[in-house]
This record gives sequence, structure tokens and C-alpha cells, in this order.
Amino acid sequence: MFAGPGERPAVEEIALDPPGANEVQVRIEACGVCHSDLHVVQHDGWGLPFPILLGHEGAGVVEDVGADVTSVAPGDRVVVAWRAPCGDACPSCRRDDPRRCSNNLRGRRRMHRAADGALLSPVLRCGCYADRTIVHEACAVKVPEALPVEQACLLACGFSTGAGAALWATPVTPGATVAVIGCGGVGLAVVQGAKLAGAERIVAVDVMPEKLAFARELGATDAVDASAGDAVEQVRELTGGAGVDFAFSAIGAPAGLVDAVRMCAYAGTATLVGIPPPGRTLDIDVERDLFAPRITIGTTHGGDTIPQEDFPFLANAALEGRIDLARFVTAEIALDDVPAALEELETQRGIRTVVRL
Ligand SMILES: [Zn+2]
Ligand SMILES: [Zn+2]
Repeated sequence: MFAGPGERPAVEEIALDPPGANEVQVRIEACGVCHSDLHVVQHDGWGLPFPILLGHEGAGVVEDVGADVTSVAPGDRVVVAWRAPCGDACPSCRRDDPRRCSNNLRGRRRMHRAADGALLSPVLRCGCYADRTIVHEACAVKVPEALPVEQACLLACGFSTGAGAALWATPVTPGATVAVIGCGGVGLAVVQGAKLAGAERIVAVDVMPEKLAFARELGATDAVDASAGDAVEQVRELTGGAGVDFAFSAIGAPAGLVDAVRMCAYAGTATLVGIPPPGRTLDIDVERDLFAPRITIGTTHGGDTIPQEDFPFLANAALEGRIDLARFVTAEIALDDVPAALEELETQRGIRTVVRL
């Protein structure tokens, strides 16, 4: 729980109301430690009312359902999605483009701080750093039980964001050349998504040798050490001067997107995947770097997924060995370790830390 600005997140007892209509109570079994929770802590709650229940990369088992729930039943293995396209209430859904839904379905807030009954704001409508949470039925996405829960939870945010950026938001075309700047958990998922999309060449860019090694294991064909010289020049050199068809910045700093733009070949697309800090601008020569080479700049929210379709698709891809979710889980911790894990997130050496509950 994140109780107020400047406070250290702490583990506290919570109480749940019963699930209401179209709501589902999930017994959370695993939850990844994702950067967006740290973003909430670092940016005074990211607009959410305090106190805040952190955690938004969870998976578990349906334990109880409210009235009118038809898509899941107690005992189902589910991944808790933070995106749930509204279906008919926003312009994107009305034109049958739910990937660009701007109006997520949400349950009512049902979780309270046990000490004083204060209503909790679950991060991204999830609140999965808790052994139980209540979400809208559309956010409880059934996946095959054969997929271990510590892998399944990664589909809830980081993996789907990266893979979805390559598969659905941009999307990468078969045979394309791709560059991925920043090879943390999300960047490595872009590598996996690009591989699944049939990219012929995937250039990983990072300053840490161990992250570049992970990238090679997960499908990168080339690695560029950005600490050894200008990353844009190195990527251009690798591609015979042309640049890449698709470049992704999986770091929040705007300089990553600028590099992505400048790495692109003629008519290429640069996609921002990381969450940028507020108030920053792009330093781009608009004529030379953008207009003349006809570059498209794109963004994505969580890989533009349709969770009910894409999570089972990715779960099956993992079970069939076409993506390697198991490789992403490099540490498992207990709920009590979450505050420290958030503090260490920016300097961690592994790929993904997963909380087991
Ligand atoms: Zn919508
Ligand atoms: Zn996340």
C-alpha cells in the first residue's frame, strides 16, 4: 500500500467487500514487479486518490463472482488485465477498433485499509500486490492452466506491452529489420514480439552487456553496446547505412525516441514503448530527421492489446515454445519484499522479479 506522497510503500492488512455485478474476486498467486508501480510512487500517485493499492501484473485463480458474471467461474486460472476495451462507449470501439479503446471497463472500488476502512485506489484498476483483489469481469482473462502462474502474470503488463508494441501497435511486418533500444523486461518482450512477427533482423541496443546477452538469447540477431559509441551510427553501420524498418524505444527518456527516429530507414516507424517522465519534449530536426526520411512516430498503451484475445494467444505461444516467458522470470520474492524490490527496480540486473503470494 502506498499511503501518501513521500511515504514508503508498506504491507498492511486490507479488507474486501463482496464482488458486485460483473465483478470477480481473484486469489492472486503471482504478480510481477513492473516499472509503472514505481512511476506511481515517484509521481505522487500518478493522479490516483490515496491510499493506493499497488500491483498491476497479477495472475491467480477466480475465487468468487458477483451477479451476471458469465465469462469466468470459481477455479478458473486468470490473468488480471489493466486494459479492458469498453466495447461500445468510445469512438474507437464504435468504429470496431478496440485496440485503441480510450475507455476501460472497471469494477467499483471494493478494497479497504483494514485499520480505518479507507477505500483503496487499485493501480490501473488491478491492485495485485495483495492475496486477493476484485476486478471487472472483463479484466479477468482466462488462460491455460498449463502455463505456470509466475509466467502467466507477465502477460498482464510488461510482456504484453513489449510484444504487443511489435505485434499489434506498430506492427512489425515479416522480413523486416528492427532495432530495440533498452533491453529491460519490456524491451526484451519487444524482441520476442518482433521475432514472433517474423522480423528477419533484430538489433538490440543497451549499455549493459548482460542485457544484450539476454536479448541474444531471446531472439536478437545483433547487439549494439550504446556505451561504446553513438548507437544510431552503430545501427546504421550494421544495416549497410540504410537504418531499420522499425525502431522501438523501451526507455522513457525522450532521447531514446529521438535515437529511434534517427535509426529508421526511409519510411520507417519509431515507436515509444516506455513511459516518459512528465513535461519533457523531443529534440528532433523536423526537416532532416523526420520529414525528409518520411518517418512515422508511434506510441502504444500496453501494446494496444485486446486481452481476451491476446493473452490466450501469447500463453499458447509460450506453451508451444514460440516465445520464452520462463526466461523472463529471474527472481521470485515474497509480498514483504515488494517495497525494497521497487526501490531496487531501476538498478536490477535480472529481467523480471515476480512476487509469489
Ligand atoms: Zn472503447
Ligand atoms: Zn506495468
